[in-house]
Amino acid sequence: MVPQTVWGKNLRALLSKHEWDVVRKAAYAASGNRCRVCGGRGPQWPVEADEGWEYDDETRTQTLKGIIALCPDCHHIRHWGKTMVDGHEEQAFALLMRINRWTRAQAEEAVAFAFDQWERRSRHEWDSDYSWVTRVHGFRPDAEGERRAEAANRELVDKAAERAGLFERETETRRFSNEWPAQPDPEPTIRMQRLTPSSILGYLQKLTNR
Ligand SMILES: [Zn+2]
Repeated sequence: MVPQTVWGKNLRALLSKHEWDVVRKAAYAASGNRCRVCGGRGPQWPVEADEGWEYDDETRTQTLKGIIALCPDCHHIRHWGKTMVDGHEEQAFALLMRINRWTRAQAEEAVAFAFDQWERRSRHEWDSDYSWVTRVHGFRPDAEGERRAEAANRELVDKAAERAGLFERETETRRFSNEWPAQPDPEPTIRMQRLTPSSILGYLQKLTNR
């Protein structure tokens, strides 16, 4: 999972629309418009472009290693947080178990590990190395692209924070309506807490355990 501090900082934002179309269509063609993981195709559109990043926890650099074509179902697994928020988590678990021949417990352990890693990495800013796209396609992200990427990151983080806040409020409302007449809130500070990467993580984990 992509650390929160670099959400949205991807080639789609960094390149012009034409350049991004060239890059993603080359990836689709390279696998014959089929998913590189399962060989399948999506029902509405066959494949989507997925960026492969390598994370160096020492230098805090994410390095783009390439773009591959994935069917929408396999792509969901790569963006687990969004998949949960969108309500596709059970399908993603089923696919993860089938592809890796894992039990439910093994799949849950892998997801928990990925979340833990995501949380640790989301505490820091990361440098991004996009030189792959210059070597392979000759495109060079410019200052305008960097601004688009920064704006995309802010928008995604704000949206996640808003959803996390909404989830907290819904939980509170349900709790109070179940316990009528309402009891005094034993932990009034919880609702006041600032949203941090870990509270967004908590929100995502609550969705997993619901
Ligand atoms: Zn697939």
